[in-house]
Amino acid sequence: MNTEVGTMNEQSTSPFFSKIPPELRHLVYDECLFVGEVAAYKKSTTSNAPHPQLSLLCTCRRLKLEAEPVLYRNTVILRKEEDIQSFFQKTIPTPARKFLPKSIEVSLGRDDFTTLDSCMVYNHGITQSRGLLASSGSINEYNREIHRFAKLKLRDATWQRKVDPILDHLRLDRLVLDLSDSFCPEDCDCRMAAMAILCFEKGFAFQTPKIVEIKGWELDDLDIAAVVGECLGTWTVRRAGKVAGDADSALGTISEAEKWLLDMASEEEERSCS
Ligand SMILES: [Zn+2]
Repeated sequence: MNTEVGTMNEQSTSPFFSKIPPELRHLVYDECLFVGEVAAYKKSTTSNAPHPQLSLLCTCRRLKLEAEPVLYRNTVILRKEEDIQSFFQKTIPTPARKFLPKSIEVSLGRDDFTTLDSCMVYNHGITQSRGLLASSGSINEYNREIHRFAKLKLRDATWQRKVDPILDHLRLDRLVLDLSDSFCPEDCDCRMAAMAILCFEKGFAFQTPKIVEIKGWELDDLDIAAVVGECLGTWTVRRAGKVAGDADSALGTISEAEKWLLDMASEEEERSCS
């Protein structure tokens, strides 16, 4: 059987495993691998945080199995969509490995809007301009439509692609959402933070993160992280209800937190730049 455990050499002659008790080995792992936060890939962060000593994990399979959970106590920072793709396809490709990360930070920003997304907005613009010319619509109407389309594209396609694997595969203790750059892709400073959070509306497949933190979105007199945490919890219960065929928990009622977020998102949607 070619599983990770099946091919593992017990390293019974190695003094590191035979002489040093597990508690002390774990102190070594903590010292070498736990640094607080790590970029999934170098370009993910510009921070000067210390790097974990990954070479330790290459010494042998037994050590890797024993020490790797310590590495994944760090918060893994995922910025770009391509980082998320590589992370899920290369770093944690198997279902068992997908349970390793316990804490991640993901950003949803206007920079996520790709050239392809822009091309689709451009094509939509051409189609619209034909329609508007035929119906003698105004240039303002045209601009509003392009603006609406670009915002929906960013939310429903671009950001959703980043969020879906997180919802479907991870079993997190902590989720940090960086919304500092959650603005309209048209460079007109429409806030899209509530819309960004609605990308999580499908709910987590396994568990709601115990700790939720929000970066870059503050409102007076409101603990945003608590509101978002409550919404994530509701959505996760609802997803579980749908899977179990439990209509009550699948439909449920809209909580205060959810209502607040939905109102906020529709405000963001209506606000249009002139
Ligand atoms: Zn805008």
